[in-house]
Amino acid sequence: ASRETFPDDNVFHITEDIKVGGGHRLIMAGPCSVESRSQILETASGVKTLGANVLRGGAFKPRTNPYSFQGLGSEGINLLVEAKEKTGLPIVTEIMSPEDLEWLEPHVDILQIGARNMMNFALLKAVGRTRKPVLLKRGMMATVDEWLQAAEYILAGGNHKVILCERGIRSFDTSTRNTLDLSVVPLVKSISHLPVIVDPSHGTGRKELIKPMSMAAMAAGADGLMIEVHPRPHEALSDGAQSLTLEEFGDLMESVNRLCSVL
Ligand code: PEP
Ligand code: MN
Repeated sequence: ASRETFPDDNVFHITEDIKVGGGHRLIMAGPCSVESRSQILETASGVKTLGANVLRGGAFKPRTNPYSFQGLGSEGINLLVEAKEKTGLPIVTEIMSPEDLEWLEPHVDILQIGARNMMNFALLKAVGRTRKPVLLKRGMMATVDEWLQAAEYILAGGNHKVILCERGIRSFDTSTRNTLDLSVVPLVKSISHLPVIVDPSHGTGRKELIKPMSMAAMAAGADGLMIEVHPRPHEALSDGAQSLTLEEFGDLMESVNRLCSVL
């Protein structure tokens, strides 16, 4: 994962027309969880119109509480695939177990490794054997070195398509859900050739902070964003408090595009 070995930015395709790295911007948006057919289809067509180029949605949810909504599982994947067919947006979704890889891989465009699984070495090795892009979230207590070594597990398997995602780390401060560490964007990009994107939704847990943190992330040199969007956040089965409405996402995109045009 080191720039000493690979001095040039790692630029690769997500689909034929979408690239990441080297100045290409990846905007992933969608609900925390896929909840229903209408919810994911409405969100997908909305975020596409407003400027997202990847649809996110969790089908296998790593919830802290075992009694919380765990996601729709394979039915959620079917709904994401339907949303992809209808909108043309590639999809990113979390994989929690190596056993799911074989059937899941052909359906998704980016495999997401969640913060809680950043050090699940069996899972890292498994996605390293594929040639699918992998979104590797920073563990909630991971140092930059641990994060990059987790990426190294995937690269060592021969899969060079790794995107790093800063999503906040644990700190003493409970005023935000996590402490979004934007300093890692320029830091990691100086020591690694891998693209780095920022998830201010999980990073702050507070919807009013998402726009300023998105702007700051792009100004710091991020290769993109992951944003939770729900057509009716108050009805969301997970992470409603940090989810933007479609209208708010449109406003965010306008500001981000305006900022990026002068960067
Ligand atoms: C998510 O993006 O759906 C998620 C669970 O995020 P994290 O792994 O960063 O907590
Ligand atoms: Mn979430």
